Amino acid sequence: MKAGPDPMEGEPDRQLSVSMKKLILVTGGAGFIGSNFTRMAVGRGYRVVNLDKLTYAGTRESLRGVDSGLHVFVKGDINDRELVLQLLRKHAICAIVNFAAESHVDRSIDSPGEFIRTNINGTFELLEAARTFWQELEPESRNEFRFLHVSTDEVFGSIESGLFTESSPAAPNSPYAASKAAADHLVRAYHHTYGLPTLVTNCSNNYGPYQFPEKLIPNTLLSALQGRMLPVYGDGSNVRDWLYVEDHCEAIIRVLERGRTGSAYNVGGESERKNIDLVRSICALLDKERPRADGRSYVEQIAFVPDRPGHDRRYAIDITRIRRELDWKPSISLDEGLARTLRWYLDNEDWWVPLVRERYQGQRLGLAVESRDGRRQ
Ligand code: NAD
Repeated sequence: MKAGPDPMEGEPDRQLSVSMKKLILVTGGAGFIGSNFTRMAVGRGYRVVNLDKLTYAGTRESLRGVDSGLHVFVKGDINDRELVLQLLRKHAICAIVNFAAESHVDRSIDSPGEFIRTNINGTFELLEAARTFWQELEPESRNEFRFLHVSTDEVFGSIESGLFTESSPAAPNSPYAASKAAADHLVRAYHHTYGLPTLVTNCSNNYGPYQFPEKLIPNTLLSALQGRMLPVYGDGSNVRDWLYVEDHCEAIIRVLERGRTGSAYNVGGESERKNIDLVRSICALLDKERPRADGRSYVEQIAFVPDRPGHDRRYAIDITRIRRELDWKPSISLDEGLARTLRWYLDNEDWWVPLVRERYQGQRLGLAVESRDGRRQ
């Protein structure tokens, strides 16, 4: 797709104030992790140009309060190579952090096309723009330039016991995971073929503020509060590893600043929990913070529903590399993170109520619990 006469919305022409840190292009920065990352990066003195298509999953409301002197928002598509190149040149970007993606596995099962277009083709267009720009740079800037691609542990598929390392083979099981794995391979190839200074992070399930209400944890919280059923798939014994979003963002900053180019880093919470136990934990928190009017436990809203074929049993990754090389480890326990997340959703109804009303009316949201791994529960 070519840039039209005025494809941009926001303030693309505004020059950012000069500060001590570098200028980065964040893609998908109006989504869940991208907005948390933008807030953290700007808080650390980075200047951020934020490129986001504003799909159903993105909203500028997630960027409220971000220092506008250090942040510019541009509405646009990562498939628009000309637009990306224009932004890279105009702002003399030092690094790209690519969050832009279709990220909901259920949607990838229902309609995979958009996942191919954004997650694979979009990453390719972004890499091409980056390669052109990078090759134009002076040697010193070329050495400092980084292309960081944010990916998922789902590229490795399911594991019964043990942990996936960075050298485990890709074995994706959903169109979402396959599209992310394809993009990871492209990024790797651009390093090996052209020398582009790339980095990849493969992270486990995130949760925390500004997560779209269609994902497991916010959906469970909001469904419980609305007095709806909390269906749990099969016997609820599927295991996921959970990481509080701010820990993920901290890991990305470390990889960006000190990661070895050409490498991938696993990022995980070392917090495995069965789905049923996670939902019970959320119910217990709600019982304490927002007791039901009838005095009974939210656990009574849990209902087991038949399992679906192909459900990945367990994701689990080894974080030795990032711990050893970059001194990163998760700092927020799952119970502490869940408590913070619940508090945030209770305090920020003005963020999620309009979203639910405007974007999900008539859909399943708030009517069923869904998990990130693509299983409607
Ligand atoms: P999200 O769905 O909340 O946000 C995605 C953002 O990308 C949205 O703002 C959307 O508008 C934007 N976007 C979509 N298509 C675009 C396009 N073509 N051009 C520009 N912008 C576009 O996703 P998230 O949960 O914040 O995930 C961010 C990244 O992290 C994704 O790449 C995802 O694969 C990866 N990841 C997510 C998790 C998780 O648990 N959420 C875990 C590991 C990795």
